[in-house]
Amino acid sequence: MPAELASIEYDELKALLAELGEPAFRAKQVLSWLARGYRPDEMTNIPLSLREKLSAYPFGGAEIIDERRSQKDDTLKFLFKLDDGNIVEGVLMSYSYGKTLCISSQVGCRMGCAFCASTLNGKVRDLTAGEMLSEVTAVERHIPTAADKKRTVTNIVMMGCGEPLDNYDNTIKFLKRATAADGLGISPRNISVSTCGIVPRIYSFTEDAPHITLCISLHAPNDELRRKTMPIANAYSLSELIPAAKHYADVTGRRVIFEYALIEGVNSSDDDAHELAKLLRGINCHVNLIPLNSVKERSLNGVTRGRAAQFAALLERLHVSATVRRELGTDIDGACGQLRNKHIGSQKEEGV
Ligand code: SAH
Repeated sequence: MPAELASIEYDELKALLAELGEPAFRAKQVLSWLARGYRPDEMTNIPLSLREKLSAYPFGGAEIIDERRSQKDDTLKFLFKLDDGNIVEGVLMSYSYGKTLCISSQVGCRMGCAFCASTLNGKVRDLTAGEMLSEVTAVERHIPTAADKKRTVTNIVMMGCGEPLDNYDNTIKFLKRATAADGLGISPRNISVSTCGIVPRIYSFTEDAPHITLCISLHAPNDELRRKTMPIANAYSLSELIPAAKHYADVTGRRVIFEYALIEGVNSSDDDAHELAKLLRGINCHVNLIPLNSVKERSLNGVTRGRAAQFAALLERLHVSATVRRELGTDIDGACGQLRNKHIGSQKEEGV
């Protein structure tokens, strides 16, 4: 029996249909619906009896229940309701090359980073591969595809709620279906996975998903500073994390992306830039800088865009490739976990 329909593979589906006494040719038809996020009761070219049989299996869905549009840019923020009522969020950002969807991999997060809203109430549960696929297909179905595009979502980043490498098997299964021709069919080069730095899993990821872009949340140039905001730094030191990043870059031939949120008075001085440049010397990498998005529950503040630009220029002078990431959707709680927390908070206020 399949765990869920939304992430089922062709062979698995063929076996299921055989078990149900259905002809094999139905597998392709059913899979084409599933890959686009349709539930059995919506499969109009499938006999009612088979639709009813399939409806008995868990689906792994994610339904859009709220949507906010930024007044400053085209960014859209979604709240998804999973089939058990849990809520996760996603953000759709428009770029010249297409649209990038940021998806969640867990309900909440247990990594405990001091600046991150997703982790404030801990982890509730992992998302299944099907639920992650359903975040994408829900958006695809919700927003009409532009005339010159094959699909609405051209790129995916796993940078929403949760730590993808703490939900490893489901993440790998998701990536497999997201890149499969009979799945979402998105190029692996257009998918990024972001981790806070679970070192052994970075080695596994290098083996299992070498074509996917790896992003590592660094946020500090030394262990002492990193431990102040990221508990994972107590489990793995930079002397372990940096070689794992280098290994990924060497083995895959792909640039590793380091994310670095600039926090006022914490990690954003010229000395910090010098130390960071020294740490990353000799690694095929790029540093994505972003002024920290202040979270009201935490008393940490971001630097100005001007300071971020200076920090980037200094890194460049020190021969480290660096850019300041565009801040999108700042008026709609664009940073991860912010909208979900608001939603849960308002439910509490309403006594739901
Ligand atoms: N757990 C993964 C992916 C989720 S977060 C990870 O840690 O990488 C995606 C990125 O947003 C991470 O780099 C995270 O550190 C960063 N982030 C979290 N809160 C932020 C905030 N308030 N401002 C700026 N970046 C933030």
